Amino acid sequence: MAKTVARKAVRAQAKTTTNRKQGRHVYFFGDGKADGDRTMRDLLGGKGSGLAEMTNAGLPVPPGFTISTDVCAIYYREKGRIPADVDRAIADNVRKLEKAAGATLGSTDNPLLVSVRSGAKFSMPGMMDTILNLGLNDAAVEGLKTRTSNGRFAFDSYRRFIQMFGNVVLEIPKDAFEHELDSVKRIKGATQDTDLDESALRDVVNRYKQVVRSKVGHEFPQDPHEQLKMARDAVFRSWMNPRAQEYRRIYDIPDHIGTAVNVQMMVFGNTGDRSGTGVGFTRNPATGAKEFFGEFLINAQGEDVVAGIRTPQPIAQLAKVMPKAYKQLREITTRLERHYKDVQDFEFTIQDERLFMLQTRNGKRTGYAAVMIATDLVAEKLITPKDAVLQIDPESLSQLLAPGFDPKEWKSIPLATRGLPASPGAASGHVVFSAEDAVKWTDDGKPVILVRRETVPDDIHGMFVAQGVLTATGGMTSHAAVVGRQMGKPSIVGAGELEIDENAKQFSIKGRVVREGEFVSFDGLTGEVKLAKVASRPSEILQVLSGELRPRDSDIYRRFTQILTWADKHRRMDVRANADQPDQAELAYAFGARGIGLCRTEHMFFGEGRIPIVQRMILAETEADRRKALNELLPLQRGDFYGVFKGMHGQPVTIRTIDPPLHEFLPKREELMVEIVKLESQGKSGADLNGKLALLRRVEQLHEFNPMLGHRGVRLGITYPEITEMQTRAIIEAACELAREGIKVVPEIMIPLVGLVKELRDQKAVVDRVAAEVMKEKGVKVKYLLGTMIEVPRGALTADQIAVDAEFFSFGTNDLTQLAFGFSRDDIGKFLRVYQDKKILDKDPFATFDIDGVGPLVRTAVELGRKARPGIKLGVCGEHGGDPSSIHFFEQVGLDYVSCSPYRVPVARLAAAQAALAVKVGD
Ligand code: PEP
Ligand code: MG
Repeated sequence: MAKTVARKAVRAQAKTTTNRKQGRHVYFFGDGKADGDRTMRDLLGGKGSGLAEMTNAGLPVPPGFTISTDVCAIYYREKGRIPADVDRAIADNVRKLEKAAGATLGSTDNPLLVSVRSGAKFSMPGMMDTILNLGLNDAAVEGLKTRTSNGRFAFDSYRRFIQMFGNVVLEIPKDAFEHELDSVKRIKGATQDTDLDESALRDVVNRYKQVVRSKVGHEFPQDPHEQLKMARDAVFRSWMNPRAQEYRRIYDIPDHIGTAVNVQMMVFGNTGDRSGTGVGFTRNPATGAKEFFGEFLINAQGEDVVAGIRTPQPIAQLAKVMPKAYKQLREITTRLERHYKDVQDFEFTIQDERLFMLQTRNGKRTGYAAVMIATDLVAEKLITPKDAVLQIDPESLSQLLAPGFDPKEWKSIPLATRGLPASPGAASGHVVFSAEDAVKWTDDGKPVILVRRETVPDDIHGMFVAQGVLTATGGMTSHAAVVGRQMGKPSIVGAGELEIDENAKQFSIKGRVVREGEFVSFDGLTGEVKLAKVASRPSEILQVLSGELRPRDSDIYRRFTQILTWADKHRRMDVRANADQPDQAELAYAFGARGIGLCRTEHMFFGEGRIPIVQRMILAETEADRRKALNELLPLQRGDFYGVFKGMHGQPVTIRTIDPPLHEFLPKREELMVEIVKLESQGKSGADLNGKLALLRRVEQLHEFNPMLGHRGVRLGITYPEITEMQTRAIIEAACELAREGIKVVPEIMIPLVGLVKELRDQKAVVDRVAAEVMKEKGVKVKYLLGTMIEVPRGALTADQIAVDAEFFSFGTNDLTQLAFGFSRDDIGKFLRVYQDKKILDKDPFATFDIDGVGPLVRTAVELGRKARPGIKLGVCGEHGGDPSSIHFFEQVGLDYVSCSPYRVPVARLAAAQAALAVKVGD
């Protein structure tokens, strides 16, 4: 199976190489033929390859050409200079375009107008720049007027162009233009832009040109070819603007891939009432429902819909006003969905009742919709279960486990207002009015709801941290809606009753004023907004798992498990969970974990009433005292292990002996000193003070400069073997007890932080001795394995020696990353952001496994380990075990399992299946 996939990938690659014409930088599309196709996303970007594919399919696409991402790379390499041969290729394509369009750039009787748009391999909605109506100048605008017999339209197009070009290319603040537009509106007594007639718009154009003159010191460029070059370069520059960089950081899109530039003949949705523009989806991207979904605006240009400034009409309305165009749109988009075998997100323009398709791409959707759509597409036989497994972003499954409101409580709170349900999920938090405030409040530990009139791409950092996003304007495809859905962030848009005063940091609904910091809650699935703090309750899926809801009463639960069952058929690696409590083990099992990959026994020491016993153990000055405390801990640990084994229903459970530095269990030195001073100043003496003084002495003895590199892990077991003895006894006693009950468990006892084989041997001797003693005492034989974590570079590099004594390895990639980089896992936050801003690091290596630097340590240990002990069991239990891109690497090196937190188990199951389908072990 993996072979077929690999063969397909090779074929696709071969096709890409064939299509990628040697030395070609510009790809034409028009007149039913295109130089590119859908396989060329790397080179043409998503938009460019989509336009090419639609042209080849004979759809009505305005002609144009795509300047490839290679040129973007050249632009940056050559510090903003584009070589002459690329300029020549662009000029050739302009001529071709003029021919296809039957119009000429800059012509006074039939001017060609073009749009210039960005388009990277991965869509980045609204993050980069776009310029419309390019080609207009003082002469061409008159030509446009003659051609369309519509002076108002011609001058409105020109003023929009100057404004967009002025802002994007010449970097003049938008306000400078808005100010002039408002002045003219005031003079003319106009309330809306549409109230301005031709002469008013001529005035606006003259004022805009004056703005350009005064801000940049030269005239607005009149040569359309010059305009095109400047616009192209501005689009390339927008690849590196801060919001695009932030977006790429959040979505893990590499910087080096660059953007393509699409130059396309303009068609106009704003020539009058028989024109319009819109966007839509072939299915509902929020709920996944099979319904034609979208919005449009009559007499408007594309940007008006996505900018969220005017609230558009639902697409069904189009059937009434322009039935022919609507029917054609339905036919085309249905065809597109069949062709791409996925939900399409499309843009269209109708110019004088003629339909043009401007874009199609696979639609972004919520996690909920992703599951609904994939299962529906399988039922409709449009895709196979394997396609469904490959179609869903594993990360999106975690959205389905997010909490919702308790329906009864929610109903009891009066409704404040409603908006459009853009992205499902329950959100509750303090109201804030700017992205900066959202970040500030969140940093202070307060959940926030970001309330905006409409969001703009610059708000991305605020949206990212907010619990939810609520806007007053905009439709289901506005920026807030698109980005909200993609982030899985509950969002409501177009809540028109909200009157927002961002300066005063307040909004009002029907006279009721809500100020910054007050609570708002909303349900992104229904669009209901309430003015109260509302607690949320577990997701529907968790309710089924906990037995509160029957599976047959939850459609989403059944589909969710269906996807995971399909995934399991393709998965090679097992998925285990990191869990140390019986209920965690139960939950992980219910999520499909088949085994525990890491039970951190020290977490059990934090259980109720245990800390004082643990402290007594640590404070003990003699072995005898330490053993006394350990004897008290023994039954508690045995109970824990018994529960965890039972929760895992006989599946393998890896239990790690104590790992962290002991002082983690003791009070902080400074706090103790303050308490002592207080007691002394009150003249107190006696047992209390003496106890604290003894504690302080021991805390000082245990103090380490580098606790992470200090007395922890196997070093504790070696210096205090009685701890390992107690833990082994607890494990084996629990296993014997279960064996007597007829439940077979095979404990895997794991020694942490081993770098020297002799460390492991020392502990193995203790474990084997105590295990034999217990079995003899109990008269029961249980099988157990003894292994080690590989989390110290020396351990990885000497894995062949270690494998002689270890029956399994579990990669502790948290410590391995920490020790390979020399980055403290607790302190990296202080400089990580700067590293990322300076492009020293792309990603946080503690979240996404570093294949280049830490990868070789894992690869080496796998090879050495297998050489010394063929069949050695290999797994990973660091945080990376639940991260989809890291899982691809673990598949490649051929690990037997990944282990992650219980809630990540579904994500890991799907990611492991995708990895098995996409990469080959040993590649
Ligand atoms: C690790 O280091 O990756 C690991 C799983 O152990 P811990 O996080 O407990 O140090
Ligand atoms: Mg570790």
